[in-house]
Amino acid sequence: MFLSVVALVLSMGYIHVYTGNGKGKTTAAFGLAMRAAGRGKRVCIIQFMKPDEGYGEQVSARKLGIELHAFGTNQFVNKRNPKKEDIERAKNALRMGKEKVESGEYDVVILDEINVALDFNLISLSDVLSLMDNVPERTELVMTGRYAREEVIEKANLVTEMREVKHYFQEGVIAREGIEY
Ligand code: ATP
Ligand code: MG
Repeated sequence: MFLSVVALVLSMGYIHVYTGNGKGKTTAAFGLAMRAAGRGKRVCIIQFMKPDEGYGEQVSARKLGIELHAFGTNQFVNKRNPKKEDIERAKNALRMGKEKVESGEYDVVILDEINVALDFNLISLSDVLSLMDNVPERTELVMTGRYAREEVIEKANLVTEMREVKHYFQEGVIAREGIEY
């Protein structure tokens, strides 16, 4: 009994989903990355639909020795009519995510905004579910973004929904350096 509890406590390999319309999904994932890196764990972050443009969290992650790859452009993706390049970049992000997860070399892999890429149909649900089915025991997988699909939620072990109670955007406050990016 005691041994099985210890085994449960020590094992990794759980899947987290941070979704919902409130602020805090990406920053929660980066907070977890920071905590894991502090414990000497190997972390890889892959960002869908975001450019590698020196966002605060990208700079800080690299300072902590966290591997980070960002696959978006700095143009908004049109949900109804995404560009070929948007689809290609999201597919490449997923391909790399799958490689990193299946390599078994990481303690934590974060797929930031993957839920949005799926909602925009830039990547396929079956590819995402197959990635979730092949997470090695030692790897913790974190998937962020609004509009997480029901099938993704079902397969995950931990799901947190950030719900907007208030957001200062409604007061006209736009994205601020160091707070939103
Ligand atoms: P953060 O990156 O601050 O943790 P998030 O990942 O939860 O936020 P996203 O859904 O990825 O937020 O939204 C992208 C951007 O929109 C972020 O700059 C975020 O701060 C902002 N945002 C988040 N929620 C809201 C909201 N309810 N209304 C307006 N803007 C929002
Ligand atoms: Mg986000």
